[in-house]
Amino acid sequence: MCFRWRGAKPNTEWLQGCLELDDKGFIRTGHEASPEMRAGVAEPRIGARPKPEYETSLPRVFAVGDVRSGSTKRVAAAVGEGSACISLVHRALAEA
Ligand SMILES: Cc1cc2nc3c(=O)[nH]c(=O)nc-3n(C[C@H](O)[C@H](O)[C@H](O)COP(=O)(O)OP(=O)(O)OC[C@H]3O[C@@H](n4cnc5c(N)ncnc54)[C@H](O)[C@@H]3O)c2cc1C
Repeated sequence: MCFRWRGAKPNTEWLQGCLELDDKGFIRTGHEASPEMRAGVAEPRIGARPKPEYETSLPRVFAVGDVRSGSTKRVAAAVGEGSACISLVHRALAEA
């Protein structure tokens, strides 16, 4: 018997037009979150600060874990990204 892993489909249809998604529907973050940044014609900055790695194309909206484009689809990676992101959330709230 042979099982083949066919990948997963992110539940992000409802985010179309709100956040930058990759061609498979995963949410782009950080440097990948805007076409200009991907093309290297814009600095990955929001206002006066560099764009954080887990920030989506919408400032102060973050994505981590499996739904994030380019993430390692594993439990430990999702937990690590979530914990690393919390400090970014606190910083965003402090700046708001
Ligand atoms: C069959 C299978 C086997 C796996 N085996 C392993 C393994 O052995 N080791 C390993 O490390 N990883 C394994 N993985 C991967 C691991 O499960 C994921 O990497 C991990 O669960 C990702 O965590 P997450 O929190 O990013 O996403 P998830 O665990 O998928 O959590 C996302 C949650 O968001 C909810 N949700 C989705 N859309 C919405 C919405 N619109 N509104 C509100 N809630 C929503 C979902 O119901 C879900 O509860 C496996 C995955 C699969 C499918």
